[in-house]
Amino acid sequence: MKEILNYINGEFCKPSDGSFLENENPATGKVYSKIANSNSEDAMKAIESAHRAFPSWKATPLHERIRVIRKVASLIKEKEAELAKAESIDNGKPLSVASSVDIPRASQNFEYFCDAVTQYNQNAYPMDDFALNYTLKEPLGAVVCISPWNLPLYLLTWKIAPALVVGNTVIAKPSEVTPMTAFMLSEIFQEAGLPNGVINILHGEGARIGETLVNDKRVKAVSFTGSTATGKILNQLAAPHFKKVSLEMGGKNPNIIFDDCDYDQALKHAGLASFANQGQICLCGSRLFVHESLYEKFKKDLVEKASKLTPGNPLDAKTRQGAIVSKEHFKKILSFIELAKEEGGKILCGGEAYKPQGENENGYFIKPTIIESLDPYCRVNQEEIFGPVVTITPFKDEEQVITWANSTEYGLSSSIWTKDINKAHRVAGKIDAGIVWINTWMLRDLRTPFGGMKNSGVGREGGFNAFNFFTETKNVCIKYN
Ligand code: NAD
Repeated sequence: MKEILNYINGEFCKPSDGSFLENENPATGKVYSKIANSNSEDAMKAIESAHRAFPSWKATPLHERIRVIRKVASLIKEKEAELAKAESIDNGKPLSVASSVDIPRASQNFEYFCDAVTQYNQNAYPMDDFALNYTLKEPLGAVVCISPWNLPLYLLTWKIAPALVVGNTVIAKPSEVTPMTAFMLSEIFQEAGLPNGVINILHGEGARIGETLVNDKRVKAVSFTGSTATGKILNQLAAPHFKKVSLEMGGKNPNIIFDDCDYDQALKHAGLASFANQGQICLCGSRLFVHESLYEKFKKDLVEKASKLTPGNPLDAKTRQGAIVSKEHFKKILSFIELAKEEGGKILCGGEAYKPQGENENGYFIKPTIIESLDPYCRVNQEEIFGPVVTITPFKDEEQVITWANSTEYGLSSSIWTKDINKAHRVAGKIDAGIVWINTWMLRDLRTPFGGMKNSGVGREGGFNAFNFFTETKNVCIKYN
């Protein structure tokens, strides 16, 4: 059976204690590979490797760093079909999504940050009395990048690319739930000729190596994307060391449909924001608020749309709804559907597991689910479910919906649907979220700040924000005659 090995100092290595995890295909329920389950000894080796590689990578001319990283981008493009199939099998997402979103974006991440770094200014401040300040942005050293399972290669490369291009070395920790494309990426780094030790990829359970990675003095920063619970642990570990931390965490995003919206667009995007990637995107609009005058019609049309989304074999080109990522997560989502019933929710469609015929009969599939009649403050409306489950609630006016939208501990993203430009700006200004979309959803420009307020995040990624995080600022002041 294929072994997913660690990549340390340019070599593929087994975990030092020989421990492996089973890697399941969630669409069949079958184990199809083994994952190195790293321990602190492996983590120490990766830190040592990244630390040793740093001085020479930092001293490598920028054009040479860019050349190697662009090669990584072009190899991802070359292997797009292979990577997309691997991502679909590992994660359960439809091949159509992996090949149109995940893998193209992974190569774009490297391309984009190679372009952006050439425009990253290091400022000069001349003073009147014969003095000059200039401000340098210097790489930090060895940094840790930890990523989740929902967009595996897409989110891992979103961190690695800016870290490397400004001259840091990296210890990457992809999710143990979806490690395959990160393993393939280590082969790509080797093929591209990235010097040994510049990137190190550690697999396995995060809790086994988290403390070692964060506590080590040679690690200068931790960039994390994942759940708020894990983000809290990492923040607590990093605090006594005053270590730089960037946290991208959970969401419970409101999608607000006003009565003066473009109805067809709002409906189409509500379907996407609820169920894309089986609802396993941190930006999904999992709380849908619809103005009371539109509510009955919108509800009926959305239910009709969702009922047509039958889950199926992710590798089938026609499939639009794939498998849930793991058995554990599948159970968690179903338990929230049960909780919704206990909390007085009415299941309008879905609400149960789905068993396709044939080779996928033991996979983890859930029918797209819409629930109404829940209190905006109940657990189902306050806690992140992260699955194909959306709640729908009618609202009376702006004030009420803004209060409800802001009522959770999260503040990642939101969507507002209205043709009234005054209302759009007014509501955008009052929503507590790092990202507000007006008349769209998940439209991304890689230059823009990306991240959340409240328990959804600390710091921002995207564009120069990522470079600011992965560098230390130094001001040099010179006096001359
Ligand atoms: P998770 O927190 O369980 O795991 C994320 C990563 O952290 C994994 O690689 C895991 O191995 C590692 N990890 C776990 N415990 C650790 C520890 N003690 N020390 C170090 N590393 C540790 O999250 P998940 O279930 O993989 O991902 C789903 C979550 O991610 C959801 O909450 C979702 O909203 C969030 N997410 C957020 C964004 C964003 O940009 N804000 C993007 C995608 C996903």
